[in-house]
Amino acid sequence: MLDTRTLVIALVGICLLLSAASFLAWRVHRHITALAYWAGGALVGACGLALIALYGVWPAALVVPLANALVASTYVLNWFGVRSFAGRPIPWRSGLAVLAAMTAGNMWFVVIENDVTARILIASTGFCGLLLLAALELWRMEPADRLRRAQRVTAMVFLLHALFVAGRAVLTAWSEPVSSILVPDPVQSASFLESILAITAWGFGFLSMTSERLQADLDRIATIDPLTGALNRRAFMSHAERELLRAQRSGAPLTLLLLDLDRFKRVNDTFGHLAGDALLRRFSEIVSARLRRTDLFGRYGGEEFCLLLPDTDQIGAAALAEALRRDVAARPLDFQGQEIAATVSIGIAACHGGEPLDAALAAADRALYRAKHNGRNQVIAAGAAG
Ligand code: GH3
Ligand code: MG
Ligand code: MG
Repeated sequence: MLDTRTLVIALVGICLLLSAASFLAWRVHRHITALAYWAGGALVGACGLALIALYGVWPAALVVPLANALVASTYVLNWFGVRSFAGRPIPWRSGLAVLAAMTAGNMWFVVIENDVTARILIASTGFCGLLLLAALELWRMEPADRLRRAQRVTAMVFLLHALFVAGRAVLTAWSEPVSSILVPDPVQSASFLESILAITAWGFGFLSMTSERLQADLDRIATIDPLTGALNRRAFMSHAERELLRAQRSGAPLTLLLLDLDRFKRVNDTFGHLAGDALLRRFSEIVSARLRRTDLFGRYGGEEFCLLLPDTDQIGAAALAEALRRDVAARPLDFQGQEIAATVSIGIAACHGGEPLDAALAAADRALYRAKHNGRNQVIAAGAAG
């Protein structure tokens, strides 16, 4: 038989370590507020468990409700942390209501009527509910194309722990009533042992989720142009090379567009660089609004952008380019009360199987040059007359 008090003391140590690890991670990554909730949750858990280790030493009417409230706070703060991690509002009221209801129930079953089984049932119901809420939140979070393996695994840890907590409640209710959760009883010691594993696992889960989030931030910084949200040139090129190989294998058409804002220098000179920046952002919004999920949109440099359209031939690409040209011309930018009109010139080239991307870029650039030369605000396809 495992000694429950020893297991509780081990749990206190693990909670303190988890709290310290989360706190230190939060100190470095202040923008991930969830880490502060998790650090706080593990700390109050350690305090609550330390009080449980004192059951039978200090008066039960004082220690039991307080210990239970602190341990329940761990589950509430875990849930808050997950909500914060998901960028959703913190449900203070619901959290406090659950905590108040659990504490009131515990006080009743220690002061009015001493019933350990009832207390275990109250705690288990609350813990299960809070664990399931946190698991559900983690499971639903973020679009499917993002990295989120750690979130899923942590959700599974919560779910498994909830199942154990529920199982312990059922077994406790069915077996002989126990006089304290610290008595040498297989169900109680198994439950503390499981808690040690669960808390260690969700601690790793939280830290892996943080590392996954930081990696995703780094990937975004390395691939996305911060002004316009389009892919930067390096990311566009590497994605485009992959698209080119795919098109060569499948024989599907692939078309490249180069887009250059007309007389953009004049916008900067007349209205200032901030107006120029706003126009670039606006242009990027107009283009993005018409794209398919599979289209690649990159900022080639300055006020030049490129689009790579998989499964699209030159005729389809020309239709899109013409729609974009019209959209840009029809929607002048309102910058601080001033109306700034803009137009765009577009060159189109098909990517031919076996040819490098540079060949299509050069052809699209020549077409773009002709569009500029012919008076701007127009679309020209490589190989077309004009
Ligand atoms: P054209 O019709 O021939 O394309 O003329 P243009 O004035 O658009 O072309 P040019 O290449 O002469 O000028 C591009 C200008 O774009 C020059 C540069 O200052 C400006 N530019 C490049 N990047 C940025 C940016 O990030 N923000 C702002 N505001 N301006 C930029
Ligand atoms: Mg230009
Ligand atoms: Mg240019």
